[in-house]
Amino acid sequence: MTELAYLSSMDGAYTRSFRAQVVARPPGGVVLDRTFFYPTGGGQPNDLGTLRALSGSTDVPVVDVVKRGSTVVHRIGGPALPRAAVPIGTEIAGSIDWARRERHMRLHTSQHYLSARIFARYGVRTRRASRGGHEATIDLEGQLPPGALATLAEDASSMSSDPRTVRIREVPRVEWDRHPSARSGLVRLASGVDPVRLIEIDGIDLCPCGGTHVRSTREVGGVEMRSISPLDGGGSRLRYALTTEGGPTPRE
Ligand SMILES: [Zn+2]
Repeated sequence: MTELAYLSSMDGAYTRSFRAQVVARPPGGVVLDRTFFYPTGGGQPNDLGTLRALSGSTDVPVVDVVKRGSTVVHRIGGPALPRAAVPIGTEIAGSIDWARRERHMRLHTSQHYLSARIFARYGVRTRRASRGGHEATIDLEGQLPPGALATLAEDASSMSSDPRTVRIREVPRVEWDRHPSARSGLVRLASGVDPVRLIEIDGIDLCPCGGTHVRSTREVGGVEMRSISPLDGGGSRLRYALTTEGGPTPRE
């Protein structure tokens, strides 16, 4: 089992270097007792970065991070890492590609914010969302009226002009299940999830999520609304992108 260290607090999302211990060596990969690398899931791509044995000097690139049951496998690139070079029990220093992680955090928080504003304004819920590079897409259950793109651009700019604090909260499942009509998202929680990890954007949104987020909507920075287009089979897709680089200062 891998402890998902990025989950427990907002600080976890800002941690870009950490130490951990190797607990398994599946072919082409490394499993640690804990990790701050985000594995692909929930519409958020995996982190990239490096691993290095504390006793060594060679940084090994992490080219993919996947969840396998209760463990996280860090797939490593370049020349195969001999098992003997990094045996089970090895102390490892992990380092995360911060520019990539930070973009995913800004895109993820802005997606929650915009999904909530779309639901509040138009009563249209989000089916799914995804992000990659500098761009995010939000797939909606219905159509938005003419002019919605300009209205949502104003909402996006209010993330900076009227910044909201972002927090992690945990609530018992029974409490979360009590008010289904107030939610902007359509994704169902698996039955075994209890307690529920919620991302709260102060006064805007409360949403179950296992992703990494910025501490304030101010850190999202510049956002450009790109398009709203119909989806095959009904619904519509909003595309938007980050227009500025840099934001939060990472923790070492
Ligand atoms: Zn989320």
